[in-house]
Amino acid sequence: MTKWVYTFGDGLAEGSASMRNLLGGKGANLAEMSNLGLPVPPGFTITTDVCAWYYDNGRSYPETLRDDVAQALEHMARLTGKRFGDAQDPLLVSVRSGARASMPGMMDTVLNLGLNDQTVQALATASGDPRFAYDSYRRFIQMYSDVVLGLDHHDFEMILDEEKDLNGYDLDTDLTSDDWQRVVERYKALVEEELEEPFPQDPMDQLWGAVGAVFSSWMNQRAITYRRLHDIPASWGTAVNVQAMVFGNMGDTSATGVAFTRNPSTGDNELYGEFLVNAQGEDVVAGIRTPQDITEVARIAAGSNKPSLENLMPEAFAAFMDICNKLETHYRDMQDLEFTIEDGKLWMLQTRSGKRTAKAALKIAVDMTAEGLISEDEAIQRVDPAALDQLLHPTIDPNAERDVIAKGLPASPGAASGQIVFSSDDAEAMAQKGIKVVLVRLETSPEDIHGMHAAEAILTSRGGMTSHAAVVARGMGTPCISGAGSIRIDAASETLMAGPVTLSKGDIITVDGSTGEVLRGAVKMLQPELSGDFGQLMGWADKVRRMGVRANADTPVDARTARNFGAEGIGLCRTEHMFFSEDRILAVREMILAESHDHRRDALAKILPMQKADFTDLFEIMAGLPVTIRLLDPPLHEFLPKTDAEISDVATSLGVDIGLIRHRTAELHEVNPMLGHRGCRLAISYPEIAEMQARAIFEAAIEAGRKTGAPVIPEVMVPLVGMKAELDLVKARIDAMADAVQQETGESLSYQVGTMVELPRAALRAHKIAESAEFFSFGTNDLTQTAFGISRDDAASFLGAYQRTGILEQDPFVSIDQDGVGELVRIGVERGRQTRPDIKLGICGEHGGDPSSIHFCEEVGLDYVSCSPFRVPIARLAAAQAALKAKNQS
Ligand code: PEP
Ligand code: MG
Repeated sequence: MTKWVYTFGDGLAEGSASMRNLLGGKGANLAEMSNLGLPVPPGFTITTDVCAWYYDNGRSYPETLRDDVAQALEHMARLTGKRFGDAQDPLLVSVRSGARASMPGMMDTVLNLGLNDQTVQALATASGDPRFAYDSYRRFIQMYSDVVLGLDHHDFEMILDEEKDLNGYDLDTDLTSDDWQRVVERYKALVEEELEEPFPQDPMDQLWGAVGAVFSSWMNQRAITYRRLHDIPASWGTAVNVQAMVFGNMGDTSATGVAFTRNPSTGDNELYGEFLVNAQGEDVVAGIRTPQDITEVARIAAGSNKPSLENLMPEAFAAFMDICNKLETHYRDMQDLEFTIEDGKLWMLQTRSGKRTAKAALKIAVDMTAEGLISEDEAIQRVDPAALDQLLHPTIDPNAERDVIAKGLPASPGAASGQIVFSSDDAEAMAQKGIKVVLVRLETSPEDIHGMHAAEAILTSRGGMTSHAAVVARGMGTPCISGAGSIRIDAASETLMAGPVTLSKGDIITVDGSTGEVLRGAVKMLQPELSGDFGQLMGWADKVRRMGVRANADTPVDARTARNFGAEGIGLCRTEHMFFSEDRILAVREMILAESHDHRRDALAKILPMQKADFTDLFEIMAGLPVTIRLLDPPLHEFLPKTDAEISDVATSLGVDIGLIRHRTAELHEVNPMLGHRGCRLAISYPEIAEMQARAIFEAAIEAGRKTGAPVIPEVMVPLVGMKAELDLVKARIDAMADAVQQETGESLSYQVGTMVELPRAALRAHKIAESAEFFSFGTNDLTQTAFGISRDDAASFLGAYQRTGILEQDPFVSIDQDGVGELVRIGVERGRQTRPDIKLGICGEHGGDPSSIHFCEEVGLDYVSCSPFRVPIARLAAAQAALKAKNQS
């Protein structure tokens, strides 16, 4: 019989950390902490299998579940001496979700469940503190109404605010027992008015209501969006954790807090956390009151005059430090902890691997290796390659003038400038138009995810370092300042006041997420230095990876950046990008407008020295590393003047008639240029273009070889080949040009000729094409376009809908479609190697810089990936992780 429910508590658990898939992260770790003998309030976990069952069976439960839950409640009764629903000494519980992957803020929690008009009195008597009992009850009604009954929590906040105003109170803690009782009555009346039935009084009904709400919340929009952004399959489901309540709101000897065993922003090996006295868990995360520091060191560093936990409750603090050390050593990773102190006694409510910035991830991985806690291979696997992007973000130039208008908490590092907006919808809408925006909010909630994603930076006036804004921004790598209390935000009039400065929507500010400073206007930024921990980890990655990492680089600047980031050559130089610069476009246009071969050759002669200089530069910068240069690819009309003014300028410069230009433009016009006169088709119709480029490549190779003393072996790449005969024709001209240049210079040349595999036919006929091609580079941009029949340039208008409806899990232009496009790559690899076992195989589509696509490239056995210069570090790390994965599987 399936076991649906697993108990934990009192030094023993039915589950363990290894059962994460079944128990969810939270449940598995509660079980593990119990097994370690740590103080965990007893409880039980309803498995993720139940979630799957629930959705497979019209939102109902397995037959035996009720009995299993009843028995688990018995287990809790034995350990706590309290019974669920008992009128005299009631057991109260929390109900929380817990998926396999942590989804912060995405799922719902209910605390103090089991309270009703009767049990609240029992709690008041048992605790001797009616104020606490009624405070707990009103919290429960509010949370339950929000999460389970679907009522708006603002309506409840309004009642509370009214009571506070009426009595002249500032803080929630000012309310007396009588005040809270009145609030409870008003809350209940509100529920009854809204739902036309009373607030549920039967604890069992409450429990099943909450369990159902957790399971349903797996399919709420926030959770769906989060899963989509983090590639979490819907099939995983969530578990439900029911746990005996411990109370952080039982007066001044009670508290609740969250902590990281190391600093999640910098990675420094120091406990980092916040707590609130006389509060319950959600108060800390919600950022409603500004929390206090746990350690003295942190308090002093923050210049806070509120006492630290270390000073306030030294015994609980010492116990907590001890547990932190134990857990970090046990899990061998930085932990993110939740705890509650009930009347001086410490209880652990959660441990999980802590989210961290890329900077912290690197430091922690490198430090833990030095501490002997993990191996180099593990360190490599600890850092998310995509997160390295954060380190490549600019920071503010230290010499720049800083017009600081406010200061908050440095919640997520990096700096960015943008126009301020006050709503997430505005952020998204403006970002879609290409406008850089900074999202300014009182505080954020999971409903803001889309706006936070769209924004360059986030600024909130409320909330601590563990507030929603801070946690989510760090995860996204978006600079963020939270708790900038001195700014006044008026969302209605879309203004922000910081001291004497008033800014409106559209005004530009800069957010420095590393210092917490808000600056007026845009500020000069610096590119990051990549050394220290970064260099160390990259060095380890380079040792283990099998695939090479090259860059797609068209200019000397790109090539230098790529080398700085550790590129091992150029996998794709798109020569057309060299044609667009102002000093060349005229000659290029002359070449295109030419009506005879001779005329075209004259124009090409002007371009030749420029191309040759470009290539010489690239070869020199890459000194001895392989450089793949692709012949001209785009349709020629892309280079022609578009506007009347441009046309007339060109006509004047070239001394030709405007009519001729219009005529030639019309001639070159194509209905579907992406599938038109481009790629090797250009080299076939206008061989002189390919010849000029080949000459430039070979002459440059000889020149750079002479200069650097290292022989250059250029790789000449022919684009958009579908048939062997196409390649053969172009290759013959390249070879002929190589012969000519060798004869003219008296120098011998080594070079290779290969092709892009970016059309399905090329993949299918790879065995034939490989008879002529010495290398293949999979052009997965065009291969995706042609395999799907989806235009690269028009996909945006409908791919969103494809992802929302789940037809596609991911944008196939970002992450390779392994089933379809990937199958073509597999076929190409296999058939290419059949003919030419040592054929060099790479990828140069955008996927070359995407970690999951890089794993795919490792699986199919490519020799290298090539990606944009800024993604080179990501690719190096992802390639190392892919190699380790392959090693562990074999
Ligand atoms: C490709 O198609 O994948 C490719 C790299 O070429 P381009 O993006 O220039 O078409
Ligand atoms: Mg292409």
